[in-house]
Amino acid sequence: MQNNWIVKKKSDFLVEPNLLDYEKVYNSFKWEDVAKEFDGLPSGGLNIAHEAIDRHADSDKADKVALLWLGEKGQKVSYTYMQMKKETAKFANVLKSLGIKKGERIYTLSPRLPELYIGAIGILKNLSVMCPLFSQFGPGPILQRMQSGDATALLTTQKLFNKKIRPMLNELKGLKYILLIDAEEDENEIIRSLPKLMQEASDEFEIPPTDPEDMSLLHFTSGTTGMPKGVVHVHKAIYTHWMTGKYVLDFHEHDNYWCTADPGWVTGTSYGIITPWVHGVTNIVDESEFNANRWYEILQNEKVSVFYTAPTAIRRLMRIDNEPTEEYDLSHLRLIQSVGEPLNPEAVIWGVEKLKMAIHDNWWQTETGGIMIANLISQTVRPGSMGRPLPGITAAIVRQNGDGTVTEVTEPGKDGDLALRPGWPSMFRAYLHNEEKYKKSFVGGWYISGDLAYKDEDGYYWFVGRADDIIKTSGHMVGPFEVESALMEHPAVAEAGVIGKPDELIGQLVKAFVSLKHGYEPTEELKRELIGFARKKLGAAVAPKEIEFQEKLPKTRSGKIMRRLLKAREMGLPEGDTSTLEE
Ligand code: ATP
Ligand code: MG
Repeated sequence: MQNNWIVKKKSDFLVEPNLLDYEKVYNSFKWEDVAKEFDGLPSGGLNIAHEAIDRHADSDKADKVALLWLGEKGQKVSYTYMQMKKETAKFANVLKSLGIKKGERIYTLSPRLPELYIGAIGILKNLSVMCPLFSQFGPGPILQRMQSGDATALLTTQKLFNKKIRPMLNELKGLKYILLIDAEEDENEIIRSLPKLMQEASDEFEIPPTDPEDMSLLHFTSGTTGMPKGVVHVHKAIYTHWMTGKYVLDFHEHDNYWCTADPGWVTGTSYGIITPWVHGVTNIVDESEFNANRWYEILQNEKVSVFYTAPTAIRRLMRIDNEPTEEYDLSHLRLIQSVGEPLNPEAVIWGVEKLKMAIHDNWWQTETGGIMIANLISQTVRPGSMGRPLPGITAAIVRQNGDGTVTEVTEPGKDGDLALRPGWPSMFRAYLHNEEKYKKSFVGGWYISGDLAYKDEDGYYWFVGRADDIIKTSGHMVGPFEVESALMEHPAVAEAGVIGKPDELIGQLVKAFVSLKHGYEPTEELKRELIGFARKKLGAAVAPKEIEFQEKLPKTRSGKIMRRLLKAREMGLPEGDTSTLEE
C-alpha cells in the first residue's frame, strides 16, 4: 500500500468544493432528493434533453455558451443554450418528419463535429435511442454493431458514408435513412442532406412525455476483454450524471469544462455531452486527436477549469520531458479527473510535480452509466487508488461461492470481485439481445463488475485487475496493474502491459511487455535492470520473469492496453475480436 498520500486543506482550493465532508454527504444522501434538481417536462416525466438543454435555455442561462467547438483547423464556434435548444429542436423535427419514432435506434458515426452533439440531444428529444459509433471504426465493426442494434437511421458525414457505409448498404436492411452532415443535396429518398432538412425544420419542438425508464442510449463496451457488448441505458441515468457532476467533477457555475473522450465511448456521452449540460456549464469539444502542445494550449487559451481525460493521454503527456506550468498559463485549471484504465501512482505524482495538482482517478464502466468510485477534489488522494464509493452507491468486495451466493470480504487488503448493490439510477437495463449474460452479472444480490479489487481500512478501493487478466503464478495471484505500476516507476519505462504466460512448472509466468521513453535503447542489459528493479519493489514471486520490449503496446481506440491480445500473440492463439484495436 502506498503511503505518499496527498492530503488537501480547505485553503488549497480555488473555489470551495461542493463536497467537503465525505462521510456526512455519503451517509445522508438519498436518490429521491435528486429529483428536485430537475424541473421535469411540461408534458410529464423526465427527459435528458430537456434537463440538459431546454431548461437552461428557458432560464437566465439562455445566452451562456453551452458548446464551444474547436475545429481541427483552428476554427472556433460557440452555441449558447438558446441556440442549442433551437438546433436540437430542428433535429428532433427532422426525425419526426421522417417518421422516426420512440425507441428506434439512431446511430451516429461522425468526427467530433457540432452536429454530433446537436444530433445526440435531438435524438433524445424525439425519444429515439442514440447509438454512438467511433468514427474510426472499420466497416466490419460498424456493420456488426448496426445489425445487432437494429439501426433505423444513421447520422454521418459524406466522406465516412462513401468510405465505410456505401459498400455495405444492401446488408443494412432495416436502415431507413442516412443523414449526411455535410451534403448540400439529397442523393435520393434515403440518403439525405441534413443541412437541407434542418433548414426546412421548425426550431420549436415539444418533447413528448418521457418515462424515466424509457431507453435513451445504446452503448457498446470497449471490447478490451472480448466481443463488445451492447449496453442499454434509460433517461433516469441523469440522476447519476447530476450527482457525479456535482461531487466528482465539482461543477460550479463558471466552469469551462473539457472532456477529451470521444462519444464513441461511454465517457464521451455521459461526460462529454450529458453531465456538463445538466449542470449548465460550458462544454468544450475539440475535434482533433491527441497533440500535447495543442492540449496545453487549449487548457490555457480556453481557461479550462475542469479537465476529464484518461491514463493513456496522461502517460503521453508524461513522455514529453517539459515543464508545462512554466510554458503555459494553466492557472484556471483546478481539477483533473481520469478514467478508463488504472491510473498508475507514478502518474498522480507526476501531476503534483509538473501540473501542480493531483490527478484524480475514478472508476466506472459502460454498464454503470456513470462514475461509481472516485477520488474527490476535497479529499485525500491515495495515488494508485480509485477512491471511495460515491453518495448513493454501495460497493463491496465479494467472493462468489459458486452456488449463486457471495460472501462479502470485509478484511482490508484482501481482494475479490468488485461488486455494486443494484439500483443506482444509471445502472444498465440490459445487454442487448443477451438476457442470459445480463442475468449472470447479478449474483447474490450484487452486480459483479468483472474487475478485481481490494479495500483498505479507510474504505478506499484499489484496482487489482480484470478477473480475466489475473495471473496465477506459483500459488500466488498477481494483478497486472501492480506489476505495471512498479515498472513505470523506472525512468526508462513509458508503458507496461503484464500477462501470465502458461508455464508447466509454476502455472503462469509473469511476463511484461514494455515500451520505452524516448532516448532509451531496448538492450538485454536494460531488461535485466528492469527485472532487478521490479524484484526490489515487488519481490521475486511477483516480479516479471520475462520482459519484452515493444515500440507500442496494443490498445483499444479508447486507449486501454489489450492484455488479452498480448497473451494471444504470445501463445500463438487467434486474436479474437479486434474491432476496437487502435491502428
Ligand atoms: P469490454 O467490457 O468490452 O471488455 P471494457 O470493460 O474496457 O470493454 P468499458 O466499459 O469502456 O469497456 O470499460 C470499463 C472497464 O475499464 C472497467 O471494468 C475497468 O476494467 C476499466 N477501468 C475503468 N476505469 C478504471 C480505473 N479508474 N481503474 C482501473 N480500471 C478502470
Ligand atoms: Mg467491461
